[in-house]
Amino acid sequence: MAQYLDEIDKKYWLMVHPYDTVGNVGPADISVCCPICHEGGSWMRKHRLHLYIKSSYDNAAVKCFNCEYSTNLYGYLKENHPNEFSLYVNEKRGAGLKTLKSIFKNKDNDHYPDQEKGMDEIPIFDTGLNFDQKPAQKIDIQNDNINDGHEEKALTKDEIMSFSSGLDFGAPSVSSTQPPKAPKTPINDEGLFLVTEPPGFTDMPSGPGGPSGYIENRGIEVQSDWRYSPKGNKIKFNGASQTLSEYIIIPLKKGDLWYGFQALAWKEKRFFVYMVTGNSGYKAWNFYDVDKEKPVYITESIYDALSSGLDNVIAQLGANLGDDRIQELKEPIFCLDNQRCDQKAHEETLKYLQRGYKCFIWPEGSEKFKDTNDLRKLKVPYEKIANMIKNNIYQGMMGILKLKMIRV
Ligand SMILES: [Zn+2]
Repeated sequence: MAQYLDEIDKKYWLMVHPYDTVGNVGPADISVCCPICHEGGSWMRKHRLHLYIKSSYDNAAVKCFNCEYSTNLYGYLKENHPNEFSLYVNEKRGAGLKTLKSIFKNKDNDHYPDQEKGMDEIPIFDTGLNFDQKPAQKIDIQNDNINDGHEEKALTKDEIMSFSSGLDFGAPSVSSTQPPKAPKTPINDEGLFLVTEPPGFTDMPSGPGGPSGYIENRGIEVQSDWRYSPKGNKIKFNGASQTLSEYIIIPLKKGDLWYGFQALAWKEKRFFVYMVTGNSGYKAWNFYDVDKEKPVYITESIYDALSSGLDNVIAQLGANLGDDRIQELKEPIFCLDNQRCDQKAHEETLKYLQRGYKCFIWPEGSEKFKDTNDLRKLKVPYEKIANMIKNNIYQGMMGILKLKMIRV
């Protein structure tokens, strides 16, 4: 959640733009003449291409307010300044690895797989898409089942995409497999309402430019039960029709039946949680596939859960896990986003500690990573992430003191 432009970003932005094309240089915004559109007849008089950051952004954005060209610094340098791009990537990677090493207190012989990979495999951590924080799209299936509160959060801090402007991903291929028809009324399983998969979803399209590539760039694997809602797809859920265009669909299942699903956009920052009517207290992923007698780790998002390297893990999908669900777990351990850079996670963790629960507190030096998925994007091995979590679990006064020493 940087407020100011990163020093490395600033350096390269000024390096690739001749001195006389640079406009205002501020700590969070540097404007230059736009070499993409030359700004009509205003070339060299106006400076409409900006590198800027807002407090809600994780990384700087690049945007021209004349031609609407929009990307991030990785994309901009890669397209327009390939020589500087290589230098930039190396320098950014060096800074990232240095931080990682301090967190994990690496021995000299430790290495990360990404050190051996080619430039093109380095994930792009920023989105070039969103400039203004657009209000979340309201989906009016059933208001109380839609996670309105978290949509705002998702827009500001969740979905980081590797997306380069100007790419055409094309329409995803549509699978011919037809899911079974949804039953007229959901099956009531001791108060939990279950349905079969809603019709209209397909297999996840494979290939690097599509949603599967997006997931791989996040350092995680597409799971076998994930589905996809193709472009323009209309689904019927809870008795209402809704267009869900280009969303990754992650089912919330008990056995083979669904009690809801999460729809995650991959081209923009947007996600929704859909629950079968009556299930609002069950907003959690993987809840029926963990051993509730063993320690159950609870992350904020599904991506974080899959990045944690832990197997007995559930995701609370933004909303707080209901007390009824927590009480079903013998030993819940809350593993929220990094309390060192996320005020909300700091507050929530404190709340759970004060209630006597075990919590993972992010170790010193980890400020740059807001969640476990940030670590997976840098290809930190799962085992190291899991160990970091297990070695930093606190309970009671020790945890409260530890957390209170962290200023966000
Ligand atoms: Zn322009």
